[in-house]
Amino acid sequence: MTARPDPLDPSAASLLGEGAYAGSQVSYGGATYWLERSPDGAKRLVAVADDESPFGPFAGTTERLDGKVRLLAETTTDNARALRSALPWLTPSRHGLHTSAGFGDRLGLSTPGHVRALNAVGAPIRPVFAQQSIREMGRCHRTPRDVLDDATWGAFQAGWTSPVGGDADHLEQIEDVDTTAAAGFAFFTLDPKARVDPSAEHADPATVRAKVEALDWPGLESDLPAFVKKYAGRRIELEHEAVELDEESVLRAMAKYGPSLSHAMAMYRRLTEKAGDYEVEFAVDETDYPTKPAEHVVVVSELKRLGMEFISFAPRFVGRFEKGVEFIGDIGELRRDFEIHAQLARALGPYKLSLHSGSDKYSTYPLIAEATQGVVHLKTAGTSWAEALRVIAANDPDLMRRILALALDSFEANRKSYHLSCDPARIPTEPTDEEVARLLDVADSRQVLHVGYGAILEEFGSPMYRVWNDHEEEHYRIIADHFVKHLEPFARYAR
Ligand SMILES: [Zn+2]
Repeated sequence: MTARPDPLDPSAASLLGEGAYAGSQVSYGGATYWLERSPDGAKRLVAVADDESPFGPFAGTTERLDGKVRLLAETTTDNARALRSALPWLTPSRHGLHTSAGFGDRLGLSTPGHVRALNAVGAPIRPVFAQQSIREMGRCHRTPRDVLDDATWGAFQAGWTSPVGGDADHLEQIEDVDTTAAAGFAFFTLDPKARVDPSAEHADPATVRAKVEALDWPGLESDLPAFVKKYAGRRIELEHEAVELDEESVLRAMAKYGPSLSHAMAMYRRLTEKAGDYEVEFAVDETDYPTKPAEHVVVVSELKRLGMEFISFAPRFVGRFEKGVEFIGDIGELRRDFEIHAQLARALGPYKLSLHSGSDKYSTYPLIAEATQGVVHLKTAGTSWAEALRVIAANDPDLMRRILALALDSFEANRKSYHLSCDPARIPTEPTDEEVARLLDVADSRQVLHVGYGAILEEFGSPMYRVWNDHEEEHYRIIADHFVKHLEPFARYAR
């Protein structure tokens, strides 16, 4: 049973100090907690109770006040942990098959905006506020604990009192499992793409067979004849069609994904040793070719045979899912692709289909929401960052010009490992104020800025955080408006 807050202590409202976030105030376990902001932007945790007993886990100062005890505590990582144990709904937990959405937040500032969007939409969509890939954490110099703690403070500030997830996104190495499990994440996205063999896509049959024969079959706890017997000639009846597996296509699927399965299982086994309450997503969305139905069947069935339990699967869908812009490709073909993968997810699972690089793909949401009947996870990563840049553009156009110049200078390095089709040559190098205001609306500059976050934050982090700090309300409003557009298409199927 999920913990819910107690009715708010009626005397607590009168204790709110200057700069308090009134909406954060919540009573639970004999104490009332809220967040306050000082004029310089620093935030602190305040709590009151009849005695000191609820405040043991917190580091801070206590004082007597009108017969109560008041705690003042800084927003440190230890106090974030203490707050998660004091207010259990802030501790990431499993969302299971519920409709869910991941709100990657590179800055650690956006969660209150995400909460507003969820509240505005009002559907039972389960949030994952803490979500960042290891690649992004590296570029942003954040630790897994930073990601989790920022989301904790943001959700608390905005008064969120329902379950939250916590996605350790795109884990590729076994060590990534250790650090993110220790931090307290509850959702682990295993991505063995480095060991997927894209050359199997177009290899001739003899090469495919040689690749399959060379697989580590003992490590896969099987052998080639057993594999062929299991899949070749199999027919999987779905609701509206059937998937036929011929020998050629299952061998090709195994040649491509086989090497990655052992590694995924090694990460998974490590996870079972390290993490407590967790769920797993298996992701191949960043591979070179769309995931064919036969590949979906083979990968998922082999992982299940090996003992992996997962709650969601992220195939690579047809068309192009580039960072920060609309879907590029044939939308009819994508609809067919969603339908077949969703039927497979029901037939072989059920598990959720996960839509990655899911931000700004407005044309796709109604299609995947319907195809999956809400058994879906929407994962957005950098779009909160791109939208946060609007606050900079509106309030400090000169800073924005310098940011753009750096993003253009460092673009070739920044674009690595991202799918992009922007042309930097089309971006004005000395934009006017009006052009600055439109940088996030034009695909070329939006993508260049989208992937430039590492270099940009490294160089301009301090002045940028000052702007966001001074214009917090505007920032939340922009994020909320943006995410309402993402969440609304899922509302009628949310479950
Ligand atoms: Zn992804």
